[in-house]
Amino acid sequence: MIYVHIKKELAKFETDIRDLCLAFFPLQNLNLGTGYIIAKKGTPFNNKKNLNLGTGYIIAKKGTPFENDIIVKDYYTGPLTGDRLTIKSELKRQLYNHLSKLTGKTLLWGTLTGIRPVTIATKFFDLNLGTGYIIDKKGTPFGARIARAYRLYGRAMRAPVSLGTPFENAKNDKLNIKNAVCDELIKKELKKEYYISDEKADELIEIAKNEVQILNRNEIKDYKDMYSVYVGVPFCKSTCLYCSFTSFNIEKFGKYVDDYLETLEKDFATRIEKIRESENKGCPQISNNIPRPQIQKLQPLTLYIGGGTPTSLDETAFEKMLTIIDKYVDRSKCVEYTVEAGRPDTITKEKLLIMKRHGVTRISINPQTFNQKTLDLIGRKHTVKDVVEKFKLARSLGFDNINMDIILGLPNEHLFQVLKTLNGIRKLKPDSFTVHSLALKRAARLNFELDSWTKNYYLAGLGNRMMAKCYIPEGKREIDKMFKWSRRLADFLHLQPYYLYRQKNMAGNLENVGYAKLGKECVYNIMMMSERHTVYGFGTATTKKIFYENDGSKRIESEEGYKSVIDYCKSFETI
Ligand code: SF4
Repeated sequence: MIYVHIKKELAKFETDIRDLCLAFFPLQNLNLGTGYIIAKKGTPFNNKKNLNLGTGYIIAKKGTPFENDIIVKDYYTGPLTGDRLTIKSELKRQLYNHLSKLTGKTLLWGTLTGIRPVTIATKFFDLNLGTGYIIDKKGTPFGARIARAYRLYGRAMRAPVSLGTPFENAKNDKLNIKNAVCDELIKKELKKEYYISDEKADELIEIAKNEVQILNRNEIKDYKDMYSVYVGVPFCKSTCLYCSFTSFNIEKFGKYVDDYLETLEKDFATRIEKIRESENKGCPQISNNIPRPQIQKLQPLTLYIGGGTPTSLDETAFEKMLTIIDKYVDRSKCVEYTVEAGRPDTITKEKLLIMKRHGVTRISINPQTFNQKTLDLIGRKHTVKDVVEKFKLARSLGFDNINMDIILGLPNEHLFQVLKTLNGIRKLKPDSFTVHSLALKRAARLNFELDSWTKNYYLAGLGNRMMAKCYIPEGKREIDKMFKWSRRLADFLHLQPYYLYRQKNMAGNLENVGYAKLGKECVYNIMMMSERHTVYGFGTATTKKIFYENDGSKRIESEEGYKSVIDYCKSFETI
């Protein structure tokens, strides 16, 4: 068992402590109490597991490499009162050092456990400068320190740029050297503050720079005064093993599709009034208090239809849905219109033509893997051949922005299988591709059947559940190699990384990364993942996120929509 003691004063950081401990002891069962060793043999609390005595033990399961008790205590000697952020950072660093000593492990992501690490790096950039950096902007985490260190820049410019220095890749011109120096300084700060590895620091800086450049494009740069629209279509042909999204089997719930579309129309009609009112009050950005002209339709920057699998609807229903959207959405300022056509077995020539007629600019056709055995195992009812055929069909009909998703860490998949998948992607040359690390979600079948899947991983020789082998150093595991090969493929296809996010319980404690050709990025993904502007969700399982910015400080208000199709339809019945 692993018991982690949390001082009472630090109980407010329980989530941070838990997440960091989980990064060291992946996928162990946690039982956080309040400060006592619960149920350790020979202690007064033996057999009193349910007493819930205190704050703070993580208990590992039998049969894991940690079945011998580990007690984590006395790891924090810093201040207990004062600035919350300072205490949190110090606590995480000290806990990290303690756990690192205990396990002999270092983590690629260091103390970072949040889902949006890129936002830490984007703080260094000034959006108005494009390629420039915020050197000394107040309110940035390392502004002053960077400013001091930035004086080095003058020195570096006079010095020759030689091989082996961090600047060796910078050409001998002032801007490139300046940027290389800034990259190094930011990296240094990230490492010092978060103990992040070189590899991940480089990745963050690269993605942050790409993101900033995309947001500076003429057609996008006013994104703060605009919003995105997301439409949820919660139907799929079957449920994938790892799925935690709201997804209803179309065979069983197909009878609700007509009602769903009728409700979606009512949803648009009623909400558009409210959005208009809020826009005239200066929302979504309260700093922008200019009353807007009355809108008859929504005018989003990006439009995204996701799910579920929207193309699960039959042709008639699918066209009806796109017609409803046309009625309420004006795309004159829209930089992209995405439809997730994830399952290739839901794509037909007619549906592709319908999308063309309605102005869809970007679609996703997601193989997840090019290994048929794995597809069968994870419950996707399509073949590898379907992926290839539907991709080629879409290309032949003029779709010039197609994304493909893959997942690393699927059951029974070794590097060999992943290389096969990457080779399949290489041949098709999508315009963007997104690499996911399998995440164990609470609501997923994978989680409910975890014990049998664990066996499956063991049998495949992949070690302690989902390849999270605790005793292999991060960076040297099979999944790390899979990740590196994915990156190599992206480079080969001239796709650059432009967004990244992390989730809890990800295979290998890694991340999801989106790569795209220049100009073919999904701007909606950036807006969502970096919480850049307001997103209005329509349909089930959508979230309304209202973004406020005032004097440089941001606030996001989120509101979850209905999860169930039936509840969603009922809620609009009287209208
Ligand atoms: S296709 Fe996506 S939404 Fe549908 S079941 Fe699979 S993971 Fe879930």
